[in-house]
Amino acid sequence: MNIAFIGLGNMGGAMAQNLLKADQKVFGFDLSPKALEQFAASGGVVCDSPQAAAKQADVVITMLPAAKHVREVYLGENGILAVLKAGALCIDSSTIDPQSIKDVAAAAKAKHINVCDAPVSGGTIGAQAGTLTFMVGADEPIFQAIQPYLSLMGKNIVHCGDVGTGQIAKICNNLILGISMVAVAEGMALGAKLGIDPEALAGVINSSSGRCWSSDVCNPWPGINANAPAARGYQDGFATQLMLKDLGLAVEAAEQAQQPILLGGFVQQLYQQRCMQGNAGLDFSSIIQQYLPAKV
Ligand code: NAD
Repeated sequence: MNIAFIGLGNMGGAMAQNLLKADQKVFGFDLSPKALEQFAASGGVVCDSPQAAAKQADVVITMLPAAKHVREVYLGENGILAVLKAGALCIDSSTIDPQSIKDVAAAAKAKHINVCDAPVSGGTIGAQAGTLTFMVGADEPIFQAIQPYLSLMGKNIVHCGDVGTGQIAKICNNLILGISMVAVAEGMALGAKLGIDPEALAGVINSSSGRCWSSDVCNPWPGINANAPAARGYQDGFATQLMLKDLGLAVEAAEQAQQPILLGGFVQQLYQQRCMQGNAGLDFSSIIQQYLPAKV
């Protein structure tokens, strides 16, 4: 089977490397010459357009920044749907809104091409280690067909339902994460101000009902978790601008569905403010700095 990989950035580059390590033949394209150089050095076949990569492919994986790039790559003037073989399997792992992938899948279906969504969690570390979680939106037979490829790049492969449901799972999870991080930051900062040792406070929270991933794995207070971004100046984590992007998708989806997400809209604005203040590249747990007089 020939695989085309389009979008060889921080995530896609590492995912493609895992396919190459498993002796798959991978045809790749990216707009960035640097990304292509790294891909070539790992044994990938560099192509000069998405169509050139896709035309010989049985399986296509796309890992692009946002919905407009996904629409362009699949549906645009030089889009890949025009050249793919009937029966090809396309997996979009970008984080985008559910409606966009449904639109792409519907256009593909008319050409007997299968498109599904499989956004990921696990970040760049998970992409490098091949331990990503894939949240898949696909018909059951397509889910079965793509599993062998996803298992070369990830550890947990979850079937969420029909096309679009992978994106729904991803944006709802990150909505909860964005809110829970603000809640933990607020509680940790208040506790410290009132005079409790932050480590003692984290210990209580993590054995009580306030416990969550934001408190026990990625606590925003520096030094609570030795491997958390807070312990290294909030570097090399899940960037605030990516959290802002995902919250934007949740707010947009909620608007379309006429479903209130009160806290989601509020914390979106908090992360927006952080980005505006020059902290877009810091891990999103750095939101705690909004609650402190000076850097902790
Ligand atoms: P990135 O910006 O590092 O990579 C995206 C790549 O797509 C870039 O190399 C860019 O040149 C390329 N690209 C853009 N338009 C293109 C086009 N028309 N044709 C070919 N290539 C094109 O981003 P990333 O961190 O790899 O993230 C990719 C996706 O994964 C995003 O949707 C992001 O939200 C999601 N995601 C990222 C993380 C993370 O921790 N970085 C975690 C989970 C999900």
